[in-house]
Order: sequence, then C-alpha cells, then structure tokens
Amino acid sequence: MAARSIYYRSQVMLTFSQTEKPLTHFSPSHLLVHYGELALKGRNRDHFEETLVQNMRLALGPESGSTVRRLYGRLIVLLTPEAIWDRVAEKLTRVFGIEYLMPAITSEPTLEAMSRAAQEVVRGESEPRTFGVHCKRATKTFPFDSLEVQRVVGAAIQGVTEWPVKLKDPDLPVKVELVNHAAYLGFGRIDGWGGLPTGVAGKVVCLLSGGIDSPVAAHRILRRGATAAYVHFHSHPHTGLESQRKVRELAALVQPPGRWSRLYGIAFAELQRRIVAQCPEALRVILYRRFMVRAAEAIALREGALALVTGESLGQVASQTLENLRTIDCVAKLPILRPLIGLDKDEIVKQAQRIGTFDTSIEPHGDCCSFLMPQNPATRSTPEYLETVEKIFDVDAEVARLVAEAAVEEVGAPGSNAAT
Ligand code: ATP
Ligand code: MG
Repeated sequence: MAARSIYYRSQVMLTFSQTEKPLTHFSPSHLLVHYGELALKGRNRDHFEETLVQNMRLALGPESGSTVRRLYGRLIVLLTPEAIWDRVAEKLTRVFGIEYLMPAITSEPTLEAMSRAAQEVVRGESEPRTFGVHCKRATKTFPFDSLEVQRVVGAAIQGVTEWPVKLKDPDLPVKVELVNHAAYLGFGRIDGWGGLPTGVAGKVVCLLSGGIDSPVAAHRILRRGATAAYVHFHSHPHTGLESQRKVRELAALVQPPGRWSRLYGIAFAELQRRIVAQCPEALRVILYRRFMVRAAEAIALREGALALVTGESLGQVASQTLENLRTIDCVAKLPILRPLIGLDKDEIVKQAQRIGTFDTSIEPHGDCCSFLMPQNPATRSTPEYLETVEKIFDVDAEVARLVAEAAVEEVGAPGSNAAT
C-alpha cells in the first residue's frame, strides 16, 4: 500500500500507511515497536534485538526520559507524561530495523478492562472509519484466547462508535498485546524505515558527490545494518564551497540517528588539473573515478570498512557503462557496492524524496566545472589502456597525498560517543 504523509496532532510529519484519520483525543502512554526480519535471524536474534534497543536509546537521547524495554519478544517504549509522543515516534521511524510503531495504552489483562480502555480511546471520535482488532498473547496463561479478545474488544469499540469492522487493511488497525501482568492496546500504525539495526552488518565507506544518487545508495546500505564513513572529492577552487556544504548536510540526513561518523573532504582539483593537462580528454572521468576509488579504499582501510558504496546505475552516464565500471572496479580490492545499479532515475528520485535528501541534492553546486569535464566522455575503456595512461603518475604517492591532506569532520549526533 502506498505510504501517505499527514500531520498528526502536533506539526510533526509522520508517514502512515494505513490510516488517514488520526484519533484526535488519543494520548498514548507507550509505543509498541514492531520489527520485521529480526524474528527470522535464529540465534542472532538476541543480539539483533539488543542492538535495536541500544539504537533506539541513542536516537531518543538521554534527556528524552522515555525508556525502551524488551518484553517477551516485543519492544515497548514507556513515554514520560510530558513527552510529545509523536515527536518520539517520528525519531524512532528513522531507526533502522523498526518496521512500524503503534501508539498504545495499557490496561489490566481482563476482557472488561481492555474493552473499557479501548472505548476510552475511540469515544467522541466523529469521523467514521473501518477498524480491525488483532490480538497476540506472549503467554497462554489467560482464561481466554486471542479470538475471544478480538471479538469482545471489537464489539466494545463498535458499541460506542458503530464503525464497520475490516480485518484486512482497516483505516484503524488495533492491536492487543497480552503479557503476564498487562495488556497493551495499540491504535494506528506508523511506518518506520525497516531494514536491520545499525551495527549488525559491518562498516562501509560511502562516496557522496552532492548529487541525487549517492545519498540514496548510502541509505540503502545503511538500512541493511551497516555503519559508514563518508568521502567527498571537491574541486575547490575551480568550484565553490557549496558541494562540501551539501555533502555535510546529506551525510547528516542519511546518518543513523544518535550516532556519529567521519566525513573526509578530499581536495581533488590539483590532480584533476594534471589529468586534464596530460591525459586523453575522453578518459578524464574514468581517471577521476579510479583515483577516487583508490583514495576511498585507503580510507576504508583506516576506518576498518569492508566495502565502498557508490550511486552508480547501469548506463545512466558514460562512466557507468559495463566496460567503464569494470575499468573502475579493477583498481579496488574491496567490493564496490552499487545498490542503485538496476534502478531508473525516476525510481531513484522517488526514493530520494522519501528519505528526505532530494531537496538538498538538487540545490545547485559546481559539480566539476566545464574545464574539468570532457566534451565527449568515452563509453568504452579497458583496464590495460588505463594502466598505460596512468604510467605518468606515481599512483601510490598521489593517493597517499590525497588521503593525508583530507579534511576530516564529524557527522551526526553532537556529543554522542556512539561512533559508527
Ligand atoms: P550522483 O547523483 O550521486 O552524483 P551521478 O549519477 O551524478 O551520481 P556520477 O557523477 O557518475 O553519477 O558519479 C557516480 C558515483 O561516483 C556517485 O554516485 C558517487 O558515489 C561517486 N562520486 C562521483 N563524484 C563524486 C565526488 N565528487 N565525491 C565523492 N563521490 C563521488
Ligand atoms: Mg554526480
């Protein structure tokens, strides 16, 4: 189902997949947190779940006061009475591994108490909507089964609202989670990023250009539980400083909340000038990319990263033909991950809009001034020919210089000591 963005209570934007009709009088005390794939991870499940809890705590920050708990294979956030719950929820939607959240209340685990609690939430809502109750019991020690809970609580809600029941994709999903001493009743669903918790998949170095594609590529790999360092090559003084500002902003947007990473800004203009002066014009971009990959790999070694990430998509521009990708790949020992390789530009643009990087990416910046770009870039190349062309450089020394002169800054949570 297509995700829709709406404003819920305060002016915090949340993405709801299942309801466009927020409950106006609802004041939850908890958030029920659902994760998807974690459940499938066998013996790793404990580690993954604990990592997710830690990441949620980092995202909320020590001052939030909200506590996160594991409870019989579920995750529950206890909100402080002062907490603005949808702000808390909004922060958590960006924690990788969370599939969706449900604002919730708690009651005694009896049919009467749950029915009364549910009625309090929906009473006085004027907008009609469909709803469906789904119950899950952590233990089977109750004198009733899940079906009975669904039937009784459903009837109680209907008794005060007359809303029609719809079990598949209702406007208002209602979830009853039963644990030994309490029932949690969740209302409505707020989608998160999904994926796996940050920290379970090793580290990568993301090459960020300032354009649309590379932050989307970074997001896709971070979403799979990786941590990152970021690298940007700039052509200052041939270009302005905007690309550096944009990349700083983009890295902060894709960075998992509550964690910090390093961003390496590499001055590339001097080497580019020599490439322009001494190498065949058509090969310029491929030469730039080969040096970028080598420098990024040197940074990966320093950072303990195991792969590079770029935003290339097959055939999108001349440097992204299969021949040229092969010529670029040859200089790296680490794998180069290209999560956008099979996506069309409009698909990438949609993702950039969804993750919130698009507006920054399209701000104008001097990518590479026209003097540095070839008129007719080569669509074909071979590693052997490039090696011949590069003979005029002391490649190792060039790469060592690029990395040694990099400006290093921190991205992400100020004051956080959770490095990624
Ligand atoms: P993007 O939208 O990410 O700029 P693009 O379609 O413009 O991508 P290219 O300019 O060919 O494609 O770059 C391909 C990839 O190489 C980028 O996605 C990025 O990962 C990396 N890259 C390109 N230029 C830079 C740069 N100046 N600094 C860091 N990485 C770069
Ligand atoms: Mg680019």
